[in-house]
Amino acid sequence: MAKNSLSDIIALWPEQHLQRLGHCPVCQGSLAEVLHNNLQDRIFFCAPGSWTMFSCQDCGCAYLDPRPDEASIGLAYSEYYTHDINESWLSDASFWAQRLPSWRSGYIKRRFPAYAGQPANLLGGQLLARNATARVLLERDVRHLPTPLTDARLVDIGCGSGSFVRLAQLLGYQAQGLEFDPQAVEQAQRQHINVTQGALPDTGLPSDHFDAVSLSHVIEHLHQPVRALHEINRILKPGGFFWLSTPNALATGHRRFGVYWRGLEPPRHLALFSAKALQSSLQEAGFGDIRFQCPGPVSAWFYRASQEIAATEADTAGRSLDKAALSSEIRTIDRLSMSDPCAGEELIVTARRV
Ligand SMILES: [Zn+2]
Repeated sequence: MAKNSLSDIIALWPEQHLQRLGHCPVCQGSLAEVLHNNLQDRIFFCAPGSWTMFSCQDCGCAYLDPRPDEASIGLAYSEYYTHDINESWLSDASFWAQRLPSWRSGYIKRRFPAYAGQPANLLGGQLLARNATARVLLERDVRHLPTPLTDARLVDIGCGSGSFVRLAQLLGYQAQGLEFDPQAVEQAQRQHINVTQGALPDTGLPSDHFDAVSLSHVIEHLHQPVRALHEINRILKPGGFFWLSTPNALATGHRRFGVYWRGLEPPRHLALFSAKALQSSLQEAGFGDIRFQCPGPVSAWFYRASQEIAATEADTAGRSLDKAALSSEIRTIDRLSMSDPCAGEELIVTARRV
């Protein structure tokens, strides 16, 4: 199917379906500055409208105001298929799965003795465990999960067609997924993966039930992100483990590419967190042992995708630096994020229900 262009998009989001906030949807603060004007759907070219993003002066989050209301947000997903997302960046993260699958299995088997995946080379796994970059990538693959005790339950919310649910099962969890896109649910069920339809913040899942919950690139799509964190706290057992990933509002790439930064994705991304806001929202929702984790070398993916977005228009964003300078910036961010996990293009955080 031919890709639409910006001029094909209906100019305006239906006025009666615009929700005006006047405050930050994360901390409720009303002190904000305009960060971007005229944001448009430059990724899937399917969502009408032109958007303004504000930067909250209290918590550092970035958010759309006005934004699509909950009744109309489906308009922004007409060509967005959670069951068919190009997971090229995940394969970047799964570097070792492609190159040395038995070593990767060896690493996983050491962490998760019940692992029932591909044949494992335990010595190879031991060698990978000694390499800092390999360890970061592999821990990201398994979402930093603890080794499960018998009958430990996990739910991946916003699981798409369930690829992580399947991996969590292999790691020894009784894993299930929750997904709002009925086509993705159907696709998962065809592959006998335990996925049901549902969404945050009202999951309908039982209280004090799960040992682990994961949320990969979901929170930025939600109208009520803080309520969602409270809901996750409710469904976890006391001491239960929570893993979350989301674009970093304060990323270097965001400053570099501005309106073309891949992390923005208006109007599907409604609010982008800063590390500070994520930390305080998690505390407020009843989480402790909050740890930011290194996202791994993902900057190249963000920079490449942002350059592609900028290239759809005659704009010089991302071209003011030559290729070598951009590569050097990517390496610097990735290196920095090894010692400061909040310095990357994404935020990854783990926490426990208090
Ligand atoms: Zn705020």
